[in-house]
Amino acid sequence: MTPPVYPIPLTLSPSRISAYRTCPLQFRFASIEKLPEPPQIHQVKGNFVHRVLELLLANEPDNRTVEAARQAFTQAQQEYEPSARFVALGLGDDAREAFWKDSRDLVNGYYRMENPRNTKVLGLELRLDADLGKFKLGGIIDRLEHDENGDLVISDYKTGKTPPQGRGAEKMDNMHLYALLCLRTRGELPKKLRLMYLKTSTPIEIEVTQESNAACEAAAIKTFDQISESCQSGEFATHRSGLCNFCAFKKWCPEFGGDPTQAQFEAPKLYPVVSRD
Ligand code: SF4
Repeated sequence: MTPPVYPIPLTLSPSRISAYRTCPLQFRFASIEKLPEPPQIHQVKGNFVHRVLELLLANEPDNRTVEAARQAFTQAQQEYEPSARFVALGLGDDAREAFWKDSRDLVNGYYRMENPRNTKVLGLELRLDADLGKFKLGGIIDRLEHDENGDLVISDYKTGKTPPQGRGAEKMDNMHLYALLCLRTRGELPKKLRLMYLKTSTPIEIEVTQESNAACEAAAIKTFDQISESCQSGEFATHRSGLCNFCAFKKWCPEFGGDPTQAQFEAPKLYPVVSRD
C-alpha cells in the first residue's frame, strides 16, 4: 500500500470529528496541516465566559455568590487581557468595552437559567480520553454533574445563537461523544445531555440511551474511516455553507477560486501563529 498523502491522526476530539463532517477541506487545513488561523472574537468571548463560569463553580456551593461571580470575572479578565489570542483580536477601546459588556450579559444569562449554589458539580473542564480501537477519542467536558435525582448529566455552555425550537437535538452530536467518553472512562453512561444557551437563558436537554450511544460510537468510527481515506488519497472534499463566511481558509478554497496547495506557504505569512484552544 502506498503511504498516505497526509498523516492519519491517532487522536480525535469531538469538535474535530464535527469539523470534518462540516467541511473536510477546512479540517485538512486546520487539523492535518495545522495552519494558523486568526482568533475570532466570538470564539475568544465564548472561551472567556467559560473560564468565568469555571472559576465561579469551582467554589463550594454556598460560596457561589454574586460577589464570587464578580471576582471570577475580574480574575478571568486579568488572565485574558494580556493573552496572545486576546491581543491578536486588535480591539480598539470601544470594541474592548463591547467585548466585556457582551461577556457580562452572557454571565447574567447564565444566572437567569440556574442558581449556581444548587449545582452538584462532579467535574469542570474535565479531560477524558478513551481508546475506540481504531483511534483515541479525547475531549474536555465543560461540566459533569448530578441532577436533583442523582442522575449523571453533561452540561455545555453555548454563547452563540439558540437553535429554533425542535432543532436542539441536531446540535447534540458532540455531546453524545462526551457521553461515550464518560461511559468508557467512568463506567457510567450519563442520563442526560444539556446545552445551556446563555444569550437567551435557554437550556436544551435530551436523554441518552444505550441505542443513541451505540449509534454515536458507530458514526464516530465511520467518520474516522472517512478521515483515514482522505489522508490516504489526499482528497478532502469541500462543503460550501454559510460557515464559509467565517472560514479562515476561504482564500485558498477551490469553491471560491483559490488554490489549496498555496495555503501552507501563505497562511503562516498572513496570520500570526496563535495557539488554538
Ligand atoms: S470556504 Fe467553505 S468550503 Fe471552503 S474550506 Fe472553508 S468551509 Fe470549506
